[in-house]
Amino acid sequence: MGKTIAVANQKGGVGKTTTAINLAACLAEKGMKVLTIDIDPQGNTTSGLGINKASLENTVYELMIGESNVEKCIHDSIVPNLVVIPSDVNLAGAEIELIGIEDKEYILKKHINPIKDFFDYIIIDCPPSLNTLTINAMTTADSVLVPIQCEYYALEGLTQLIHTINLVKKRLNASLEIEGVVFTMYDARTNLSLQVVENVRSNLEQNIYNSIIPRNVRLAEAPSHGLPISIYDPKSAGADAYRDLADEVIKQDMGNVEEEVSVQTNK
Ligand code: ADP
Ligand code: MG
Repeated sequence: MGKTIAVANQKGGVGKTTTAINLAACLAEKGMKVLTIDIDPQGNTTSGLGINKASLENTVYELMIGESNVEKCIHDSIVPNLVVIPSDVNLAGAEIELIGIEDKEYILKKHINPIKDFFDYIIIDCPPSLNTLTINAMTTADSVLVPIQCEYYALEGLTQLIHTINLVKKRLNASLEIEGVVFTMYDARTNLSLQVVENVRSNLEQNIYNSIIPRNVRLAEAPSHGLPISIYDPKSAGADAYRDLADEVIKQDMGNVEEEVSVQTNK
């Protein structure tokens, strides 16, 4: 059964989209079957995976408002093994259009559940807010992966995010877990990045990935070519870091499976 990971942080510019694109592409490179869902109206994950937003008809917007079905909304990407449910600016109006709709927190889940088994991983890129779209991602997901930027205010907003995740867990999706926190835009030349990492490591109870994403100009350039880093510059430090993160994500899952097996054999 596919594991669904929502990449979320209500702060903008922390590396959610860069992480969603490149984690998904690196998982696909390792032979995993991956679906990426872009639920940010900015559609940067969509264009970053080589899909032209201008010509799109079946996006997550049509899916959410009931004007399309999931088969039609799945588009091929530039990456083998990786398909995308894209987004475009129309999605910005969905929040209002969904007012009053019954079970509006579960619309995405209802569409994704029947196709989960076709994929090893489903990666959802969230918008920079804790709105209905993000809640839909969290009810669909098994876990939330939180990118945090190595800057002075790294922990700002994190308490609120964790509170929201816990609320969703309590009221809407009892099996939701925090997958882990990943540091982004690490600058080895400054003491600040190191201090932020050490400070967060000693203050946060959640799982923190060993893989740290460096500040790497190739990561910032890749989206303008519509390519993930693993194709744009496969030998860059950014590509190496996201491959390491993909390895950790896979390893964490295998650990969970082993745990389940040993629980069963202990019975
Ligand atoms: P979010 O989705 O959280 O708003 P993005 O992934 O769009 O954040 O990143 C914000 C900006 O920072 C983008 O211009 C992106 O290209 C750039 N960026 C993200 N991660 C890195 C990195 N590791 N190194 C250099 N630039 C990065
Ligand atoms: Mg984004």
